[in-house]
Amino acid sequence: MTLSSIAQTTMSRRHFLKAVGATAGYMFLPLDFGRFPAAPQKAAPIAIPPSLMLHSPDGRADFLPYLLEQLQADGFTAVTYQSWYRSVLEGQAPAKPIILSIDDISLARSACAAFNTFGQMKEWIKAAGMTAVYGVITEPVIGTEPQRDQDETRWDLMQAWAEEGFELASHTTYHSNFNAVDTGPRPDFTAADYEAEIVRSAHLMETKLGERGLAYVVQTLILPYGSGYSYQQPEPQIHPGIAAACQQTNIKFVVGIAHGRIPQPRTTFTNPNELVYVGRIPPAYLTDANGQQIPDAGQTAVWLRAWHHNNQYRG
Ligand SMILES: [Zn+2]
Repeated sequence: MTLSSIAQTTMSRRHFLKAVGATAGYMFLPLDFGRFPAAPQKAAPIAIPPSLMLHSPDGRADFLPYLLEQLQADGFTAVTYQSWYRSVLEGQAPAKPIILSIDDISLARSACAAFNTFGQMKEWIKAAGMTAVYGVITEPVIGTEPQRDQDETRWDLMQAWAEEGFELASHTTYHSNFNAVDTGPRPDFTAADYEAEIVRSAHLMETKLGERGLAYVVQTLILPYGSGYSYQQPEPQIHPGIAAACQQTNIKFVVGIAHGRIPQPRTTFTNPNELVYVGRIPPAYLTDANGQQIPDAGQTAVWLRAWHHNNQYRG
């Protein structure tokens, strides 16, 4: 009589496991367990939501409202990196998530001529019952001068946006390009430079919202120009100096453009020491009769649908 047949006939599974000393689970036992459930499968990897990169010139009435309408008709659920991360950890992620991110907003007093456009984009997104991520440049450089002085009224507004579920991501302090020509790290950047760009920016954002009674945690870094990820190297990675600076913050997501579309192991999300690198696509642009580049809602929606579709086959 084999152990497994004893188990099946005379003992409960728990008693059986105890009898053979397998208190930590039964995957180590070289036995045929017959009707017992198989050892748990390795958790399925997590598909990265389709993600669109927008800028203020994309805040056009003939583009963004139409795009949002199509994404809704396609059954997408707009999430932020923060809300999606939480839902992944809780096992509650929507079936068809999508992340819209809007780069280059600033709350510095003498910057951000497009501020009202960013506000209009937010209103359209909110009216569609959707949400988005804003990439904040905290001290943008005009000429050679970083604009340090912050507009407190605009920060009041950012508090309201954050409380409505819009995410505020760091888009660095000065919006520097982190790449050498080979997409590896710039040779002139030191740990202090990475700290100034990343740690300082996240800290300023958390401080400004904290002053307003909002215990906000910056969890996302949107890389300027998509730089900081060595996608042309044999083993693409987040530049080590950027990763080290992120470890001094609460940043979990590093957002670039290239790559970052392939499903990631669940452990990448659950291990607090790991960063998640994710990519984005820009809108599809068509050239109009005047030679101007115009974002096209229909083609952009096709690309986002294709990303979602590819996830189903890779995941
Ligand atoms: Zn930017």
